[in-house]
Amino acid sequence: MAYSYDDENIFAKILRGEIPNDTVFETEHSLAFNDIRPQAPIHVLVIPRGKYVNYDDFAANASDEEILDYTRAIAKVCEMKGVEAEGFRMISNAGHNGVQEVPHLHVHILGGRNLGRMLT
Ligand code: IMP
Repeated sequence: MAYSYDDENIFAKILRGEIPNDTVFETEHSLAFNDIRPQAPIHVLVIPRGKYVNYDDFAANASDEEILDYTRAIAKVCEMKGVEAEGFRMISNAGHNGVQEVPHLHVHILGGRNLGRMLT
C-alpha cells in the first residue's frame, strides 16, 4: 500500500522545531511529549521521527532499528511515568474511522486514573 505523508502536519512541525512541545523523552528515532489537551493525569504522545502516517505504514516501511527504538521509547515513557503498577492504556488512532486528527504515527499513553471501559 502507498502512504502519502503531509509535511505540514503539526507533529512534522514539532519535529522540525517550528512549534514547541513539552518533551518527556527522546531518542535518535523517537520523541515523546505531553498531549496539549490531556484526557488523563498522564497523557503522553510517542512519535517516530520518521515520516510514517500510521502504524501500518511504520510496520511496513520503517527499519528494524527504528522499530526497536520506537518500541523501547514507548516502554521507557511508561517506566518514567510509573504507570505500569496501576495500569494504563496505549492507543493509536488511524484514519477516518479511528478519528485520527494528526496524520503522523503516534501512540497515546494514558494513565493516572481509572480510564473506564473503552467500548460502551
Ligand atoms: P489523534 O486523534 O490520535 O490524531 O490525536 C492527536 C492528539 O494530538 C490529540 O490528543 C491532540 O490533543 C494532540 N495534539 C495536537 N496538537 C498538539 C501539540 O501541538 N502538542 C501536543 N499535542 C497535540
